[in-house]
Amino acid sequence: MHLLIPAAGSGKRMGATVNKLLLPLLGRPILAWTLEAAARACSIEWIGILCQPHDWPAIEAIVAAVAPAKPVQLLVGGATRQESVYRGVEYLYSLGTVERVLIHDGARCLATPALFDRCSAALQQVDGLVAAIPVKDTIKVTESGPKGIQIQATPERSRLWAAQTPQGFRLPLLWQAHREALAQGWQVTDDAALFEKLGWPVYIVEGEESNLKLTTPLDMLLAAQILQQRLVPAP
Ligand code: C5P
Repeated sequence: MHLLIPAAGSGKRMGATVNKLLLPLLGRPILAWTLEAAARACSIEWIGILCQPHDWPAIEAIVAAVAPAKPVQLLVGGATRQESVYRGVEYLYSLGTVERVLIHDGARCLATPALFDRCSAALQQVDGLVAAIPVKDTIKVTESGPKGIQIQATPERSRLWAAQTPQGFRLPLLWQAHREALAQGWQVTDDAALFEKLGWPVYIVEGEESNLKLTTPLDMLLAAQILQQRLVPAP
């Protein structure tokens, strides 16, 4: 399985002046944890990392330090996550030999190798999938009005899932979806949304509760705690 890791963002919501994936977490950059988990997944045979040109040397150093026993290629990302993935998908499609792809946010550094392998196996059966977990909170749909943010509806919680990554797709379909998005001006925050807009089925694969997307400083604290616990040998 080929894997693309979008890693071309910034650190704005984290309150950082550099790409948040370069921030240290338990002594190594966030992206190193993500890369190591992907590298340890038996089903992953090739990894492409989408990065900004100014982060290239730092990300090259991360790859050298992790030293995965499989090919890792750096690719130039874009101005948005969607554009970064577009470029990665364009590259893989140009090879003419790749049938399926997993996409995993560099910011989800707690995903386990088992999750990658579960998604790879499931992608042999379907054209599109998303790792996701059932929503625990009651979710409100709102609209902003003159008196504030007003609740419009409460969707039935049993039907709600929180989407994570990896997300996986048949590559020619994903390429077609991204081309259509560009033509139509669709802007989405994950790749499954493009399939949904086209009416193509996307299935849920059981994700992991600990598979947080590191977005705020609080997420960093939680991630450090979880990683620390994993490092403690079982009694
Ligand atoms: O900002 P956020 O955490 O939602 O971004 C999700 C993922 O997309 C991150 O791993 C980030 O590095 C990546 N990204 C990207 N190119 C961008 C913006 C974000 O690859 N231009």
